[in-house]
Amino acid sequence: MSGEPLLEARGLSKSFGALRALDGVNLRLEHGGALGVIGPNGSGKSTMFRLLGGLMRPDAGQAFLEGRPIVGLAAWRVCRLGLALTGQIPQPLSELTVRENVVAAAVFGGGLAMGAARRAAEEHLALTGLAALADAPSGRLTVVNRRRLELARALATRPKVILLDENLAGLTPVETDQALDLLRQINAMGVGLLMVEHVMRAVLGICRRVMVLDQGRLIAQGRPEEVVREAAVIEAYLGSDVHA
Ligand code: ADP
Ligand code: MG
Repeated sequence: MSGEPLLEARGLSKSFGALRALDGVNLRLEHGGALGVIGPNGSGKSTMFRLLGGLMRPDAGQAFLEGRPIVGLAAWRVCRLGLALTGQIPQPLSELTVRENVVAAAVFGGGLAMGAARRAAEEHLALTGLAALADAPSGRLTVVNRRRLELARALATRPKVILLDENLAGLTPVETDQALDLLRQINAMGVGLLMVEHVMRAVLGICRRVMVLDQGRLIAQGRPEEVVREAAVIEAYLGSDVHA
């Protein structure tokens, strides 16, 4: 482990035509940390994740994974360096079984040879509660199991940090609690988490720091309690859910 932060971004900016989707955002996540990203719809959260994950190139700014510049690298290369990104809409390879999906992620995202990929897949299927569904076609999973598969696929790439973009959306309260336990366990294993989540309880339960985006700008950051108290925009956006 180097002395550098796990993940760092400076001045990340991205426009779509005249729209400034992300406007000079800085970010810092320490090794093993958990950082929440909150903000209204359209505030630039997913854009920031796509820039960090190599799916899009910023107009300006830099990003570093353990001190290594990652801006401009292809998504698979960023993944091999240790940054795994789950989608807002999970899109597993629906023709493959659940197990094959995780093996594929381990091979292509993690750079593992087939034998090691198979072992990693079994481990992460068990961890995410998918072992019994390993042979099921992944195209027919329920929402919660698709989320678990996204997480198993991310884990199979041997990430140092996982970027979760609304991974808990659409889950029941019980499923959310189970997912939170799992995320805490993953974080305790030393995997850093950067998470966009509308469920405030989830952010407060996992993240030791949060950052607030509004119209592409970083408008507040700090410990969750501080930020929730200070940022009026969050109250307006989340209403009573802030205290749930
Ligand atoms: P969030 O994830 O916070 O809801 P996004 O990052 O998805 O926000 O979007 C930020 C802004 O950028 C929104 O106004 C959105 O419509 C716009 N946007 C995002 N992606 C694109 C794109 N590929 N082309 C044009 N506009 C985009
Ligand atoms: Mg989004």
